[in-house]
Amino acid sequence: MPIPQDARKKPVSIKVHVSTGEGVEITWSDTHTSRYAFPYLRDHCPCALCNDEREKKSKGTASSSPLLPMYKPRVTANSANPVGNYAIQIQFSDSHATGIFSYEHLREICPCDACERDFRSAAKETTV
Ligand SMILES: [Zn+2]
Ligand SMILES: [Zn+2]
Repeated sequence: MPIPQDARKKPVSIKVHVSTGEGVEITWSDTHTSRYAFPYLRDHCPCALCNDEREKKSKGTASSSPLLPMYKPRVTANSANPVGNYAIQIQFSDSHATGIFSYEHLREICPCDACERDFRSAAKETTV
C-alpha cells in the first residue's frame, strides 16, 4: 500500500443486509465493528443535496415545522455496491442513490459512543 492509511478507517469486512433491511455492518482493521441502520445512513448521506437539506434544517429555515416532522416511512436499501476500494454507494428505498459513503465518512459517523468521542466531538470543535 503506497498511501499510509488510518487503520481505524480501513474496513476488513463489510456486510450489507439489503434483504433483511437491517443495515450495514463494517468491521475495521482496528477490530472495531460499526453497525448502521439504513435510516441512519440516509440521514447522514454525504451528497450535496442532503448536505444542503441538513444545513437548512440546522439553520431552522426549512419550511416545515421542526417540531412536527413529517411522517417518513422507514427507509431501507434496494441495493449497495462497492465504489473502487474506498466507498460504497447505497440505493435507498426512497429512490435516492447519489450518496457515496466513503469508508472514512462511515467510520466518522459510527453511531457508538467511542467513535462519537474520537471523531465527532473533536470535529465539532474545529469546524465551528
Ligand atoms: Zn443524499
Ligand atoms: Zn464506533
